[in-house]
Amino acid sequence: MFRLKEKLLGAWKAVKKEYTRVDRTCNNCRREIFGGETLGEKYFCPDCNARFPYNDGFICLHCGRSAIENVKLCDDCAGYEWSYDAARSPFYYAPPADKIIRDLKYDNRRFLAEVLAAFVAAELIGNFAEADVITFVPMTDGAKRKRRYNQSELIARHVSARTGIPAADVLEKVAETDRQAKLTRKERLNNLKGSIRSKNGALIEGKAVVLIDDVLTTGSTAEACSAALKKAGAGKVYVVTAASVTNPKTARILGQETPAGKVKLAKTREKRRFSEK
Ligand SMILES: [Zn+2]
Ligand SMILES: [Zn+2]
Repeated sequence: MFRLKEKLLGAWKAVKKEYTRVDRTCNNCRREIFGGETLGEKYFCPDCNARFPYNDGFICLHCGRSAIENVKLCDDCAGYEWSYDAARSPFYYAPPADKIIRDLKYDNRRFLAEVLAAFVAAELIGNFAEADVITFVPMTDGAKRKRRYNQSELIARHVSARTGIPAADVLEKVAETDRQAKLTRKERLNNLKGSIRSKNGALIEGKAVVLIDDVLTTGSTAEACSAALKKAGAGKVYVVTAASVTNPKTARILGQETPAGKVKLAKTREKRRFSEK
């Protein structure tokens, strides 16, 4: 009897939370909203929704970043052998999506994982409906202790609940690799690859795996994780991130708004690629 009461109370609390959080206030500006048909209308007020950087124009068919018309593969993908089969993201990295991702990551606003997951889940089902299992980009134990949660895992767990595709913890990061700014792309990649390895390999053998992360920036992390997954026997690896950073040159041509926090990185990245040639 007690169990039933507890269950009902839990269900009521969940409904109430969903109601107060989702149907009443915009997840970006907190203004009152009255819901709507699309995910954007459900989670954001009309003003914020209209500003949201939906990645629904032309995209690179491999990495899913915004692209200019008639470009099938972007400069980052043409001529490179990536370990992942394809990547997609519902947003490009620009306001206000960038702030929502930063708030989730650095400001302990964990409920935003649920908001982003709604869009990630729709993107996943729209592109990789045949997926068998969902996983996420790992953090080192130390980093996770410090932040107290892994935002990619939070998103992945919500995506799993929404899609019914099981989530599995199959990757681990064994060394911190944050200080890689001065390395070349190749060095950075090798560095990362050495720090990420698979575990619980039986869960992904021969399966179509979807790797979830918050942002696809240079693609190095997605690559390192995908390489580990393939090595462990994954049949296919797809990547779905909440947002992807558009190549700065492309972003300028498309007139995309510049993200508030990542401008430096994007610029360095462009320069680095140029100097590597
Ligand atoms: Zn709003
Ligand atoms: Zn690409």
